[in-house]
Amino acid sequence: MENSFNKRKQEILEFNNAMEELNLRKRYETTIPKEIPDDLIVKCPSCQKFILKDNYILEHKVCPYCNYHGRLTARERIIDVLDLGYEELFSRLKEKYTDFPDYQNKLDKAKKDTNSDESVTCVHGKIDGIECCVGVMDSFFMMGSMGSLCGERITRLIEFAEKKDLPLILFTTSGGARMQEGVISLFQMAKTSAALSRFKEKGLYISVLTDPTTGGVSASFASLADITIAEPHALIGFAGKRVIERTIKETLPKEFQTAEFLLEKGYIDMICDRKELKKTLALLLRLHNYR
Ligand SMILES: [Zn+2]
Repeated sequence: MENSFNKRKQEILEFNNAMEELNLRKRYETTIPKEIPDDLIVKCPSCQKFILKDNYILEHKVCPYCNYHGRLTARERIIDVLDLGYEELFSRLKEKYTDFPDYQNKLDKAKKDTNSDESVTCVHGKIDGIECCVGVMDSFFMMGSMGSLCGERITRLIEFAEKKDLPLILFTTSGGARMQEGVISLFQMAKTSAALSRFKEKGLYISVLTDPTTGGVSASFASLADITIAEPHALIGFAGKRVIERTIKETLPKEFQTAEFLLEKGYIDMICDRKELKKTLALLLRLHNYR
């Protein structure tokens, strides 16, 4: 048993190293000089310019100088995109596989820090008056990792949309499968993909890839949509760039794994600024006869 825990610990260590390679954490660290109150001003992690916090929020957390799209929590995204009066689904479902050492503590801390209970929140609501089912991942909750509860909620949302004949929209942001749940987290890739293949026989599925969408999420439901949208400069990929370079013994282009590079290669259908996103989603839904 101890050997198996040590092995898992090693896997997590490797996972964390891979995350660092992807530069996911460092990229978002916002350091504000001590003399400036951090409740008034934020520093753009991309161009390093200071922005009044109120303006930043009014601009949907997009930098007015360089168009950097800051990360949103699931709650912020829902408020940004959905009309008022949505209903949250499957919030009573709870984690089952929490026996890995320190996992429960990590979950508790993430819940406290994010005011969310999982890395995905599912809602039934309206976008510009059009009824739809929306799942939103939250990278602030354990790097948006996909465990059994996340996979179960997404699967149920897909089935709910299928039953109600509603379009499905998933906003993805994730570091990949949740290593604390081992192989069970990997099962979620197959489970969500199978549910989607049934749903897509008659329903419309739009995925919106936000920064960062990586690992098992990018390798499953994020990449299976009828229409794939990405936010500008979002990092999208499976493994870290350096890992791939070491494996294939080649140097990859600088812009590799960005939304812009993937649009050029045909992996995604369009890049949409956050300010235009709600309008664009509503237009796409109307074009597909959803009212
Ligand atoms: Zn900026």
